[in-house]
Amino acid sequence: MLSTDVLIIGGGLAGLSAAKALEGKKDYLVAERENRPGGLAATLKKGPFLFDYSGHLLHLRWPETSRFILDALGGNCARVKRDARVFAHGAWTPYPFQANLRALPPRVKSECVSGFLAAYAARQAQAAGKAPPRGNKPEVFTRWTRRVFGDGISKHFMLPYNAKLWQYPLERLTTEWCAPFVPMPSPETVLKGAYGGKPEILGYNTVFNYPKRGGIGALPAALARDLKGLRLGLEVESLDLKKGVANVKHFGPVHFKRLINTSPLKYFVESAADAPAAVRRAAAGLRHNTVYVLNLGVKGVKSPMHWGYFPGPEFLFYRTGIATNFSKALAPRGCASFYIEIATPGSPLDLASAEAAAIKGLKACGLIKSAGQIVEKLWLKIPCAYVIYNRERAAALPVIFDWFKARKAFSIGRYGAWKYSFMEESVKEGLEAAAAILKK
Ligand SMILES: Cc1cc2nc3c(=O)[nH]c(=O)nc-3n(C[C@H](O)[C@H](O)[C@H](O)COP(=O)(O)OP(=O)(O)OC[C@H]3O[C@@H](n4cnc5c(N)ncnc54)[C@H](O)[C@@H]3O)c2cc1C
Repeated sequence: MLSTDVLIIGGGLAGLSAAKALEGKKDYLVAERENRPGGLAATLKKGPFLFDYSGHLLHLRWPETSRFILDALGGNCARVKRDARVFAHGAWTPYPFQANLRALPPRVKSECVSGFLAAYAARQAQAAGKAPPRGNKPEVFTRWTRRVFGDGISKHFMLPYNAKLWQYPLERLTTEWCAPFVPMPSPETVLKGAYGGKPEILGYNTVFNYPKRGGIGALPAALARDLKGLRLGLEVESLDLKKGVANVKHFGPVHFKRLINTSPLKYFVESAADAPAAVRRAAAGLRHNTVYVLNLGVKGVKSPMHWGYFPGPEFLFYRTGIATNFSKALAPRGCASFYIEIATPGSPLDLASAEAAAIKGLKACGLIKSAGQIVEKLWLKIPCAYVIYNRERAAALPVIFDWFKARKAFSIGRYGAWKYSFMEESVKEGLEAAAAILKK
């Protein structure tokens, strides 16, 4: 039987970062089921185009992980100022919607502004003790967005956009994920954004980094380069954490002393023979959506936009972006590349009709003039894309992570930790798990 000190399930950014930190210091094995490393941060080649799994931009926040990522990329990284927009009521407005209402029809604009001001006044009254307190019950998304942004902004952006993205009843969605990702403007900003002044640049991703060459896949490729324990095409089918044995498809058992899991938590628990009944019950309540990404290589595109959000029901997709506006090296001269994101609750998508609807949408918002401009396409499916923040998640995670702790195992990364996180966070968690193992 093959044995290793540390088995790492998954060669995405979390697994690769952990392996990089263990390299030369501890015996480890990364089992990656695909025949390439990178997970969702991989870049695929189709004809002369390089396509990512939708836009994958580096938002660097922490000094140590920023250094680690930029060192890995060498000089192959550009800093880009965001040009993100929203297409609503037939017009483009800069992102975020709530701070840039100026392009909307007057009726919609005043609904949004008056709703925001009323919500703001109600919150002020509450803070001053002039209104009854909210109580301690966790707030659901529909209530939260009306309380924070008011009825107009909720109706015209927050509710339809999030319904399209999450594909889950919004009255059952909790709000722990909102703080880092949803920009909160002041009343002055909302008024200025509606009636005058320059567009407001708000949010966590006003400037981002992206590789100059090779797409986002340049990052995992750089991390994977010198890893002696990385094995591609190895899928862990089941395991027993207590016995320290993983069964690898077409390969057989692998014995391990410590485990770092980065595969989706819900399915990991299902595959663990020794998971207690309470842990299984907890994992059964976890939910996620599925995202299909239609990548298109297109001639004659003029827009400098990086990406746009589409709340309207007339668009099948919730977001589309122009990847060549981050890096010209993704397409041949004269061509651009689009990524178009369509979410489902997990049900299969009819690709032919989705493609027709996507092209119709691109024409309707003026990003392309005709389907004749399209010269290449690649559909990619992300089966487990956004984990759902439902009440079951909040109750389940402590139960599941107590079990991991008792087994001295780690479950990290966007899907191992079952959260709405970003690439730098996966890198951080990989480095931290490796450091904890090396400390013992
Ligand atoms: C639509 C979308 C857009 C995004 N945009 C951004 C963005 O702009 N910026 C940003 O920072 N982040 C973005 N993210 C998040 C980003 O993709 C993730 O945070 C990060 O790539 C996750 O890395 P990971 O290693 O944690 O997981 P993954 O990339 O999922 O890696 C896990 C790996 O485990 C492997 N695996 C799974 N099961 C098994 C098994 N049983 N055996 C062996 N191997 C297995 C998988 O093949 C995969 O390679 C986006 C995510 C999505 C879905």
